[in-house]
Amino acid sequence: MLHYRTLPVTAFQQNCSIVWCDQTRQAAVIDPGGDIENIRALAQSLGLDIRAIWLTHAHIDHAGGAASLSEQLDVPIIGPHRGDQFWIDGLPQQSLMFGFPPAGTFIPTRWLEDRDTVQIGEETLHVRHTPGHTPGHVVFHAPQIQRCFVGDVLFAGSIGRTDFPQGNHQQLIDSITQRLWPMGNDTVFIPGHGPESSFGQERLTNPFVGNT
Ligand SMILES: [Zn+2]
Ligand SMILES: [Zn+2]
Repeated sequence: MLHYRTLPVTAFQQNCSIVWCDQTRQAAVIDPGGDIENIRALAQSLGLDIRAIWLTHAHIDHAGGAASLSEQLDVPIIGPHRGDQFWIDGLPQQSLMFGFPPAGTFIPTRWLEDRDTVQIGEETLHVRHTPGHTPGHVVFHAPQIQRCFVGDVLFAGSIGRTDFPQGNHQQLIDSITQRLWPMGNDTVFIPGHGPESSFGQERLTNPFVGNT
């Protein structure tokens, strides 16, 4: 069985999630943007063994702690899609600009592609490439628990910003309607910021992608 706990990190209150397999207690950390002591403490209190870092995209609040955590625990960084290489290269400047602790740059152990899978313990999650907010953005879908970790693609009542370099509004809308909606209305998503919601709820009420 797959489980997860979400912990807001950094001044941006980014929803870092720890996901784990209860057979093995092996865990992956999705989007360790910062506050990695808190992430490690939560994993330890849950009796988990962190084996990997998975990234939805390379904005500072999502990826700023990835290099340090990877070094401290000697674990691989998996994702995002290689379209975000320029954002990874820019992490040191992003950390200065936003007053974050110095963030290291890195080369992911593995880039992700649309329809890849990632494994933690005995659990498998499915990867979809969802460009628009950033060109290399991916989401992690766990159909076994009807959950999807969507980073900054979609929020309860809103959608991701597209006014960054290589952001694209129509591409974001297409990512949401063509790659998220088919996961089903009952699927609950964990956004990068703010509360969880379901795809069905957003299809009914989200002003940016309602009635789609
Ligand atoms: Zn972002
Ligand atoms: Zn964010």
